[in-house]
Amino acid sequence: MNISPNILLIYTGGTIGMVKDFKTGALVAFDFDELLLNIPELKQLDCSIDTISFEKPIDSSDMNVDQWTELGGIINDAYNDYDGFVVLHGSDTMSYTASAISFMFENLAKPIIFTGSQLPIGDLRTDAKENLITAVQISALQKKGKPVITEVGLYFEYKLLRANRTTKVNAEHFEAFQSLNYPFLVESGVHLKINSAYVLPVNRRKKLVYHTHFNNNIIVVKMFPGINEHILKSIFSLETIEGVILETYGAGNTTTKKWFITMVSDLVKKGVPVVNVTQCIGGSVEMGKYDTSIGLKKAGVISGKDMTTEAAVAKLMYLLGENLPLKVLKTIYETSIRGEISEN
Ligand code: ASP
Repeated sequence: MNISPNILLIYTGGTIGMVKDFKTGALVAFDFDELLLNIPELKQLDCSIDTISFEKPIDSSDMNVDQWTELGGIINDAYNDYDGFVVLHGSDTMSYTASAISFMFENLAKPIIFTGSQLPIGDLRTDAKENLITAVQISALQKKGKPVITEVGLYFEYKLLRANRTTKVNAEHFEAFQSLNYPFLVESGVHLKINSAYVLPVNRRKKLVYHTHFNNNIIVVKMFPGINEHILKSIFSLETIEGVILETYGAGNTTTKKWFITMVSDLVKKGVPVVNVTQCIGGSVEMGKYDTSIGLKKAGVISGKDMTTEAAVAKLMYLLGENLPLKVLKTIYETSIRGEISEN
């Protein structure tokens, strides 16, 4: 007997779950209990769907670590009862939340698929229906009774991408996300084309480990020509800072000015991890390739390699939350633990 998969659909907020009140023209939150009634197409899918909503759905610009852990808690509590999870989330910070969730769940053996939309589900030209229906379909894909996707993915505009490789690149196009350093996992056309060789392998003998602590005492500093020494000095001297991410130029380059390198080196000496990620949406940090990154390398800066800033932020908060010695944190940070870095 073939039992159809059970999917849990979690609504956190964002444009996707809003409908237009045709009298006032305003966008109002969707009543999620009526989801199946509003999207009858979902009934045609070969899976059963339960829904749960954040008590107070939010615009994803208001997401923070508390909501990451709230969402992680919902998935962890329901993990054994469902075959897959679909998370409806605003697109603005979806890549951050999805990256964080990928670090929370070690040895994940089921799909957690994030999706959202640029237009509300009630809009005539909405992209929400396709995104939602296909995300559910992908989360329900099984082979020999086991889920096909065993990682955290982000589905948008016909592509499933590894979530911790994504960046929102467009505020208006339906194709809002890109993953320049890693190929798509599934492409939706007439058929769902699965890029099996790129799906994260799973070791089913290993038990799920759920991590809950994020330390958000960090800052991201985007380099720009003319960056001010005094402003940086006052930020870096804050006692509360426990981690710094430098968004650098190209392959990990910064100014070579002595004041800057000394400032970074002093932070590292104090035990504060300083990470180097590139401002580019594709390619990798390679410290030492140019003279303009040798100083950082010597100072003990951690290479974010080809990680996105979104994944770098979530990974730093996650590893700081694990209370590791700096050396151990550096080693783990520079190693791919959820497929967030390309192995050479
Ligand atoms: N501002 C919205 C949000 O991120 C945009 C969206 O849902 O796409 O929640």
